[in-house]
Amino acid sequence: MDFSKYLKEYPDKDGKFGSYGGAYLPEELVPAMKEIEQAYLTICHSSQFINELRRIRKEFQGRPTPVYHCERLSRMIGNCQIYLKREDLNHSGAHKLNHCMGEGLLAKFMGKKRIIAETGAGQHGVALATAAAFFGLECTIYMGEVDIAKQAPNVARMKVLGANVVPVSRGLKTLKEAVDAAFEDYLANYKETIYCIGSVVGPHPFPMMVRDFQMVVGVEAREQFQEMMGFLPDVVTACVGGGSNSIGMFVPFLNDPVEIVGVEPLGRSEKMGDHAASMTYGSEGVMHGFNSIMLKDEKGEPAPVYSIASGLDYPSVGPEHAFLHDSGRVKYEVATDEEAVDAFFKLSRYEGIIPALESSHAVAYAMRRAKEMNTGSILVNLSGRGDKDLDYVIEKYGYGEKYKDFK
Ligand SMILES: *Cc1c(COP(=O)(O)O)cnc(C)c1O
Repeated sequence: MDFSKYLKEYPDKDGKFGSYGGAYLPEELVPAMKEIEQAYLTICHSSQFINELRRIRKEFQGRPTPVYHCERLSRMIGNCQIYLKREDLNHSGAHKLNHCMGEGLLAKFMGKKRIIAETGAGQHGVALATAAAFFGLECTIYMGEVDIAKQAPNVARMKVLGANVVPVSRGLKTLKEAVDAAFEDYLANYKETIYCIGSVVGPHPFPMMVRDFQMVVGVEAREQFQEMMGFLPDVVTACVGGGSNSIGMFVPFLNDPVEIVGVEPLGRSEKMGDHAASMTYGSEGVMHGFNSIMLKDEKGEPAPVYSIASGLDYPSVGPEHAFLHDSGRVKYEVATDEEAVDAFFKLSRYEGIIPALESSHAVAYAMRRAKEMNTGSILVNLSGRGDKDLDYVIEKYGYGEKYKDFK
């Protein structure tokens, strides 16, 4: 496949990446999505929008985030050099703000007064509440009661930022019910509201828009690495939940002689229900308004999933990933909970950087791969910082004494 015109060709006008993507929607919402698509396609060529987004990224988010050479970690493993794109240094501690600020700015340009979303672990909710405060938009976040009880610090952050956090008490009281509740709100209020999706998933135009907003990560990283080294890395890698930090990192490298690898969470085991490796173990299907690769139960419904990193436990993956997988351009590998925790402690001890458990999956893969290659370089997207995971990790794994030495 020729990737030189990739961004012009994908997605197509129906929001398709090959057979994946599209918009599978209740009829009432078709005009609402069309309105968002039209507004986005107009605005993304407007110099006013582009300049404002640039200013926000620089002055509010603190971009560009640096690329950092992990000298000590690399030396402990061997001769292959590991580099990190430091999205953990993006304001609010992860890559998610990149698309939330884009979505907020779009809402503002469209004259909407309100942005809404669901959140599981609360990371997307916090990023969206941050954007809402910045733009002066009303913000409602739906969250299952079970998740609210588990994620007290993020609930507090959202509230301090001025968001209205609505507890969802039906069904299992987790993410799925929160999605349903947010959807009902959107159906009733789409005239003044935008439903801001938190990854490169959902109906068109969200996989395209979120990708475009996240591409700043890969564009910066490619330029920074080239400037540091005079050449490009041999391998580029990132963790894959819904797929936003990874797609943003990968797309700018598609036309380069660079190996690209997405890392999915293998959790506790290969058994259904013990992991969330959708691409590795899933099959084609439609959920949440788009066609992609998904993990299904016997009835064809989205399967229960698990990962130690709550940002990765989604039973499907963005349609563009499914397409890049089938094209052979991007490879998908897995890392277990145990490997992620090992990487979490090693990056902390050897580099002074505490990574999010999500990002730790990509670091774990990079460490494994560096040992095999023993030459060349690997660039990892460090999607977020690990402060949010500290309490959980310490309770379950202590202070990591057993992870200190390189095996
Ligand atoms: C939410 C999250 C992810 C997973 O989402 P993607 O859309 O796959 O990027 C990864 N890392 C961090 C730090 C997150 O908060």
